[in-house]
Amino acid sequence: MEILDRLIDGDGRLRIGGERITASDGSGIDVLDPATAEVITAVASAGPADAADAIDAADSAAVSWSDTAPRERGEILRRAYELMVNRANEFAELIVLEMGKSFVESRGEVLYAAEFFRWFSEESVRNIGTIQLSPSGDKRILSIDQPVGVSLLITPWNFPAAMVTRKIGPALAAGCTMILKPASDTPLTALAMTDLLSEAGLPDGVVNVIPSNRSSMIVPKILADPRVRKLSFTGSTEVGKILLREAGSHVVNCSMELGGNSPFIVFDDADIEAAVEGAMIAKMRNGGQSCVAANRLYVHESVRDEFSRAFVTAMEEVQLGPGMDPGVDLGPLVNFSAQQDMSEFVGSSTASGSTVAAGGRAPDSPGFFYLPTVLTEVGNDDPILSQEIFGPVAPIVTFESEDEVISMANDTVHGLASYLYTNDLTKGMRVSEAIESGMVGLNRGVFSDPAAPFGGVKQSGIGREGAHVGMLEFLETKYIAADW
Ligand code: NAD
Repeated sequence: MEILDRLIDGDGRLRIGGERITASDGSGIDVLDPATAEVITAVASAGPADAADAIDAADSAAVSWSDTAPRERGEILRRAYELMVNRANEFAELIVLEMGKSFVESRGEVLYAAEFFRWFSEESVRNIGTIQLSPSGDKRILSIDQPVGVSLLITPWNFPAAMVTRKIGPALAAGCTMILKPASDTPLTALAMTDLLSEAGLPDGVVNVIPSNRSSMIVPKILADPRVRKLSFTGSTEVGKILLREAGSHVVNCSMELGGNSPFIVFDDADIEAAVEGAMIAKMRNGGQSCVAANRLYVHESVRDEFSRAFVTAMEEVQLGPGMDPGVDLGPLVNFSAQQDMSEFVGSSTASGSTVAAGGRAPDSPGFFYLPTVLTEVGNDDPILSQEIFGPVAPIVTFESEDEVISMANDTVHGLASYLYTNDLTKGMRVSEAIESGMVGLNRGVFSDPAAPFGGVKQSGIGREGAHVGMLEFLETKYIAADW
């Protein structure tokens, strides 16, 4: 495993201006294997001086990169796509090691992540302006879209590859240079990805990577630099709010992909087998550590027993274990604190009156594992329903009417994703329109598609990633008033 060996052998250095450098003050971050809780390796941890160097590098490369022909930018992205697909197994092992999900899921993530390179290689040649006649008929209105400029990308740990390519892909296609600060739990995949982009022909300084365990110290400094014009953040709503305040002080353009609290609604006329299958994906993909994870399962009272029985059986069949072991479906949670959170959620929910129908505890083994858990008899006022669970715990609540479940579903500050299962398409469309979320899965338990606009409303975010609009987030419109 060449990529991994290199990173483990001490190549976890910062990538700035095409150089591999240690942190200027020698700091490092230990990277743990969540399946054993043991340290795998350490990577450099950027401080303020390194962040300043990264801005210099991104700024120096900005003009030549934005002047690079869109087709050439697209071809670099296309080569990156091909390299990533060719090395899918190696990248998957890296993800298993630093993040914990199963090899099958990790490989799936790598292929999904690579698709953002392919999609945006195609979008890079579709930066299309407009020309229109003014309503008065005597003027021309021209609008062109130009790269927003040096961008700061901040990513979470839950999809160490896909959250990175979903930002780098459109930023490169748009002609922006960037500084990437990956999550401290999972910096290895991001470092390996930068090396892959260099191999694909990306010029030095276009993508600079600075893992850091001092984010709250360096990020405000980066946002305060007038050369930095864009923040693209994926992470929790809590941190997103802090960053919006900091970016607001300097009027930095922001795209925010934040936390969710997705309802999963099963109507009485749903195909229950399909709904269970969808719920298993929506709840258990990435071990529940997904922003679009089904967080609250609302099941019509008339199908509650049938759904709950089948769902509990499916949850009990999930194979838990280290991600590289054959047959494993569910790996560990990312760290000790995530494992503790599950115990606390289950403890407080049962204290509020719910029943553990499956799982409900951490197994007696090393690493940060937690059993697939189903809670039934959950009251609509149970505090678990207002938290982002981010793990393999599924609370089931019952409802009686369509109006009631819409109001339950919308009773949250979040609005990222929702799921509903019904065989009545009219009802399905009506509820899809009434529900307050950026995405709705109608008889589907998965959204992810680079060609689709991914994002939330309310406190789940601002802006969209993927689709054509994903590139527009890194472009700014210029209006040229023209007469001739
Ligand atoms: P997090 O908010 O703790 O961290 C996200 C990133 O921000 C990390 O790189 C972290 O190092 C950095 N960070 C943390 N504090 C910071 C600060 N004060 N200043 C600057 N940077 C800071 O989130 P996480 O635990 O890594 O990820 C899980 C969260 O991400 C969940 O809430 C999940 O819903 C959300 N998420 C959202 C999407 C989406 O598309 N909407 C996708 C994936 C994850």
